Amino acid sequence: MDPLYRIEHNGHPTYAVRLDGNWCLLDGDPYGTSRPGARIEGNPRVLAPVVPSKIVAVGLNYKDHAAEMNKALPEEPLIFLKPSTSVVGPGEPIVIPAGAGRVDYEAEVGVVIGKTARHVPAASAHDYVLGLTCVNDVTDRDLQRRDVQYTRAKGFDTFSPVGPCVAAGDLDRSIGIESRVNGESRQSSSTSELIFSIRQLVEFVTAVMTLLPGDIISTGTPPGVGPLVAGDRVVVAVEGVGELANEVVSAQQSVCS
Ligand code: MG
Repeated sequence: MDPLYRIEHNGHPTYAVRLDGNWCLLDGDPYGTSRPGARIEGNPRVLAPVVPSKIVAVGLNYKDHAAEMNKALPEEPLIFLKPSTSVVGPGEPIVIPAGAGRVDYEAEVGVVIGKTARHVPAASAHDYVLGLTCVNDVTDRDLQRRDVQYTRAKGFDTFSPVGPCVAAGDLDRSIGIESRVNGESRQSSSTSELIFSIRQLVEFVTAVMTLLPGDIISTGTPPGVGPLVAGDRVVVAVEGVGELANEVVSAQQSVCS
């Protein structure tokens, strides 16, 4: 699969691929049969590569992160939902809500579902995965501590940057994951540190709920999470996918002019 993008073309979102440094529209269904179509001149605005009905995120899923937090390894995945309305694309601002306390980045490998998935055994997981992407599971750490549920802490608009593309990934290979803030490395690990593998997560989540094409399993974050402030530029990099960069603004700056 060529890396799959969504771009703004003639004022409308459309799927595209990059071939030899050129942008081409995608003919067909990215979740079905498709092939590269007409070439586009210039550099279009890149959008979040998928429109998920939900993001299923996983808490505490890196051995090195659990060690850093002095926490015992969980016996089964802790999953929670992030709303579709929290998704933004590359280059879109992360908006820190008015009155927020500490707001953290969390670099994560996102697993994009390619076809309707229910009760998928781990051994068949690759048949249901379109590819991998970068996710930033932005979290209001103060609200996460205060609330029993994660919905408010992780559900604000703009708290789920995703992108820049969906790229093919080997579920059984170690995949590097990094974050940088203002050019400084903050997180660096790989999926070999996952407590529950991508395959195990697909089986676990689809035993609970149906995953639809475009849905994302966000597989948890490695050690080194930390706060963001207005003016920061945060990058999440997933090996084989690329880099997802977003600027941070405070709510006051984001009102319409
Ligand atoms: Mg997370």
